[in-house]
Amino acid sequence: MNLFSSLDLAVAALCVYVGTFHLYLYLRRSAGGATVHFPLLCYSIALYAVASAFLYASDAAASALDWQRIQYFCSIVLAVEFLNLTYRFLERRSDAPRKAFLAALAALFVAGLVLPGLIVDAERQAIRELALFGASVSFHEAAPGLLWNALMAVELPGMVYVYVLLARGRLLRKQADLTPLLVAFPAFFAAAIVDNLVYSGAMRLVYAAEYGFLAVLMAMDLILLQRFIGVFKEVETLNLHLGEKVEERTREIKRLADELREANAALLERNADLQEHAERDGMTLLLNHAAFHRRLGELYNLARRQRFAVAAMLLDVDKFKEINDGLGHQTGDEVIKRIAAALKESVRDYDLKSRYRDDGRTPALRSYDIAGRYGGDEFAIVLPFCGPQDAATVAERVCSRMRSLSFPDRPELRVTVSVGCSVAADPSLLPGDAELIRLADKALYLAKARGRDRAVVLAFDAEASDGIEA
Ligand code: GH3
Ligand code: MG
Repeated sequence: MNLFSSLDLAVAALCVYVGTFHLYLYLRRSAGGATVHFPLLCYSIALYAVASAFLYASDAAASALDWQRIQYFCSIVLAVEFLNLTYRFLERRSDAPRKAFLAALAALFVAGLVLPGLIVDAERQAIRELALFGASVSFHEAAPGLLWNALMAVELPGMVYVYVLLARGRLLRKQADLTPLLVAFPAFFAAAIVDNLVYSGAMRLVYAAEYGFLAVLMAMDLILLQRFIGVFKEVETLNLHLGEKVEERTREIKRLADELREANAALLERNADLQEHAERDGMTLLLNHAAFHRRLGELYNLARRQRFAVAAMLLDVDKFKEINDGLGHQTGDEVIKRIAAALKESVRDYDLKSRYRDDGRTPALRSYDIAGRYGGDEFAIVLPFCGPQDAATVAERVCSRMRSLSFPDRPELRVTVSVGCSVAADPSLLPGDAELIRLADKALYLAKARGRDRAVVLAFDAEASDGIEA
């Protein structure tokens, strides 16, 4: 190895180092300014330099020619990556000139593989000796073949085009970080001129263009690093703000979730209220006709299955029309409300929620008794686990409770009710709950017919379809 071979190997080592460093950056943070084109460019220069080193050190002309051919392919890869990088620096999309250059370079690459004899002119090869910086160098050299010359013909205008693009980017788009490249480029051009002078024998400096290009490479390295650091800083700042933003959003989402939960709970309560209201008679807050029948049906099915006694009572205000006609409908309404309130106490209706109890007392009620306003001045009650004796007791209690009602605004007003009660000791023997109501209605008719203000209790019997009076 001579001095120039050693220099070339040093250049190759430097390029491998720079390329690997950028490859590492690219692999670690491919989203940042790092690009794979730069490592490829570095490696192709490194290979070119290695080929130079072996070219200088070659003893045989044949191996020298092979190294020169390798340099040809390196030059093509180098030109391609250089073009790619320039477009990247300028954030320029692919256009017709770039495609044309790439196509020409690809064609030259393929032609080099197919026709290696045309790269260098093997006939015109020489061993040269150069004395430079006190060192004596000898190396093989062949005249450029057809393909080398074609490559130069493509690369030279390509380089000028690229330089114009860079200069425009620096001047028009004020991309200040391109400055080192614009300075390094003339150095490369000058070195290329020197190279040609050396080739022609006018000057003695070996491969000046390679060293000039090294300056371009370093300028590119500088730009890429600057951009990469800029992106890195940006990412760090973004990360910092992102943390704060995420925290803020989380707090906001939590607050919204709390609000939603509260609104949901309020909605559920309101829904329950609405459902409750839909089942109640507005004036008395007892179950309305439909709700009463629904509950009666449910209870009756259970009673049939479990075979427990059920009593049904229909209650009708006596001569209510006379109250309406004599004292007015308002008084009639008041009477209905008072009777409903008294009924709740008499039949121990657990189903009425505490807010529907208007007197604040705690009645000893059973949860399964059902009381409803059947319509007009008629009320209905269902008492499970209630045989004929108990039913008679409750019916009597209801009658006397209504009889004792007093109205401060109408001291003379007395109200009585008639109660018709049916009892099924074993509901499984009945065809349905309608039968229970039918018999209660019949009992009510009897109570009215017998002079009102009384209760009649009819118990179901297998023999008598109209029941037996208890
Ligand atoms: P009976 O003893 O035979 O039951 O005689 P009655 O006068 O009570 O006759 P009936 O039960 O058929 O009359 C019910 C009346 O109650 C008819 C209707 O005008 C009246 N009424 C029904 N609902 C209301 C109400 O909400 N308020 C008032 N003030 N009157 C009502
Ligand atoms: Mg009536």
